[in-house]
Amino acid sequence: MTGNRKLLVFLLDALCASDVEFIRTLPHMGRVLREGALIEHVEPIYPSFTYPCHCAIITGNTVKGHGIPHNEKLEVENNNAPWYNQRSDVKCDTIFDYARRAGLKTCSLSWPVSGGADIDYNFPMIVPYHYEGYDVMPYLEGNATQILIDEYYWKYGRFLMGKERSLDLFTMALAPDIIRDFGQPDLMYVKMCDLDTKRHNHGVKCPEAYEQLRKHDQEFAVLEEAVRRYGDYENTNFIILGDHGHQDIKHYVNMNMALRDAGFIRTDENNKIIGYDAYCFSTCMSGWVKLKNPDDKEMAKKVYEYLLRLRDDPEFPIGVVMTKDEVLDRYGLVGPLDFVIEGTEEEPTEFEATLAGEDIFKVHLGPGLYFSLASHGHMPERDETTTFFACGPSIKKGVVIPRTKMINEAPTMAAMVGLNMDKCEGHVIEEILAD
Ligand SMILES: [Zn+2]
Repeated sequence: MTGNRKLLVFLLDALCASDVEFIRTLPHMGRVLREGALIEHVEPIYPSFTYPCHCAIITGNTVKGHGIPHNEKLEVENNNAPWYNQRSDVKCDTIFDYARRAGLKTCSLSWPVSGGADIDYNFPMIVPYHYEGYDVMPYLEGNATQILIDEYYWKYGRFLMGKERSLDLFTMALAPDIIRDFGQPDLMYVKMCDLDTKRHNHGVKCPEAYEQLRKHDQEFAVLEEAVRRYGDYENTNFIILGDHGHQDIKHYVNMNMALRDAGFIRTDENNKIIGYDAYCFSTCMSGWVKLKNPDDKEMAKKVYEYLLRLRDDPEFPIGVVMTKDEVLDRYGLVGPLDFVIEGTEEEPTEFEATLAGEDIFKVHLGPGLYFSLASHGHMPERDETTTFFACGPSIKKGVVIPRTKMINEAPTMAAMVGLNMDKCEGHVIEEILAD
């Protein structure tokens, strides 16, 4: 009987498989590990990037199924391309659509690619990434649920404003109030950002990341208490998961400078592109090489052979070259790419798209560019992976599964509340489900 069961999903951006040991020592998220089931390694989809992975978590699909290949709608030579913000960008059903059709109440807070989604209480991640101003409302109207704007924006909107803006503070102000004021939704997805920022800035296993996990534990305690006070605690499945892992960066490559040196990109005296045969988009720990004219088979062969030569050159930090067909076949990835390149597993490479740098192998800082010590975007099976643990009436206590794929999370979470996501690529992980 799963008719009245509920989900409370707490997503920590960049939660790593290796964090589980530390989380065991924390009082609140540690309880979920002690009382529930654990999937130690969850392989993200490819690329292991925030927006594509968040879409995988709610649809059970890889990019070929959900249609979101990257955070940004990539454009040649644009470091400030628009981001995928709208639910209408996602081209398949989400778990929220299945829930709504079954008459369940849904809530999603700070989830990417959710603007205007058909969710009862929706406050999507929508403010542009580099936004530092004080007028947030234009990004919210028509994207967030009006009743949430009316009820809460006057007192919590200030958390979204100015240089010190904190989406996590805003999210955690809203979440317990919604449970109190509207009753606990049947499905509630709450997304937190700051762990990812700490890892980008300080490295995968930096002290700041563990301090941040303590903060997330306190936030989770607030959600638990809100459910205890105002919701249906006995019938709630608490789920904690991440969207991708992280890798410490060992090498930087300004790949477009390399393509220019090889004659595939032509620039003027201001480093502006005046012509190109191949251009590299950055997915941080992988690079997407896009041909200007993919029908030019001779040029495609030339570029492919060039990339293979770089891979085989011990001085050049590329360990993997895959074709468009290979990434579609292996990972269900489609996007603005003809080849995908990556560093080696031991020495991961961050791919930069800039042409303004002075050294191919040194990070270049400029408008829209930030310095990271660690990042992601790497192949799903490479460490760090992310993880998933859960406790509640639909979940078997004490089960530990070594590994699964991210696309299996959505149908499994759906099954916990009696929904059958029968049209996605993933399958239900039956081993962790109670009767
Ligand atoms: Zn992320």
